[in-house]
Amino acid sequence: MTRTRVWSVPMRTRFRGVDVREGVLLEGEAGWGEFSPFLEYDDPVAAPWLAAAREAADVGWPEPLRESVSVNVTVPATGAERAARIVREGGCTTAKVKVAEPGQSLGDDLARVEAVRDALGPGGRVRVDANGGWDVDAAVEAIRALDRAAGGLEYVEQPCAEVEELAAVRRAVDVPIAADESIRRAADPYRVRDLRAADIAVLKVQPLGGVRACLRIAEDIGLPVVVSSALESSVGIAAGVALAAALPELPYACGLGTVQLFADDVSEPPLLPVDGALPVMRATPSSEALDRLEAAPERVAWWERRLGRVGDLA
Ligand SMILES: [Mg+2]
Repeated sequence: MTRTRVWSVPMRTRFRGVDVREGVLLEGEAGWGEFSPFLEYDDPVAAPWLAAAREAADVGWPEPLRESVSVNVTVPATGAERAARIVREGGCTTAKVKVAEPGQSLGDDLARVEAVRDALGPGGRVRVDANGGWDVDAAVEAIRALDRAAGGLEYVEQPCAEVEELAAVRRAVDVPIAADESIRRAADPYRVRDLRAADIAVLKVQPLGGVRACLRIAEDIGLPVVVSSALESSVGIAAGVALAAALPELPYACGLGTVQLFADDVSEPPLLPVDGALPVMRATPSSEALDRLEAAPERVAWWERRLGRVGDLA
């Protein structure tokens, strides 16, 4: 018999159009798992998210190969001064800077990236994430300019929306390309590989069906992997850390430092980075936190119905 709890946590700042993050925690023989597909996802899309939660709750994860996992600080599309402050307070040696924000110019991106480089110092790494915001020509121009402004970019994440566009940008620039939004479902990484569209694959445990599923994908596609979160509570983040800890190679800092975006968390202590790294451990929710963060009754009922429907698909 699995115990389930439905939680609801406000975001510190709106992210991905989300103000409040909700999900279900499942407790099984092996520990707690998280099922938190975004609200608009239909049941078939949510099915791998449940597989990931069941793996965590029923089976657990493969043995880790490392004890901690480096993470990046995320810099939103903000002004240069605030960007520099976020980097200094983040305590990470790698920064991911959001660029190509609608309503902003390349000049805004260049100023932000220069400020981030100054704050990190010459030893830090700067990567940018365009979230698919450029067409091919704009991407090529922007990447060349940002690479100069940064004194060398580590990579560019999702410069354009389509996989074919990523491939075209990759042929035109020397900066490595990472595919993020192009990898949503289990078949997507193979398409990215076959079209030679990226140098790096961003993998997320829940949408791809679990830690073992991601390890298989990583082996099959032969690209270096950056493990990122799907804006989970510490219980879901721990699954991402388990994947990062089990990958044979981990050349890049991961995008798993996202509990900072939450105003509260189910786990005490929460899985927050210390000196730019997360410990490899399971997160155990506390009963006080589960009571404090319990979703309203109608939301609990909504999630229980969703869990039942998605479970029926398995
Ligand atoms: Mg991204």
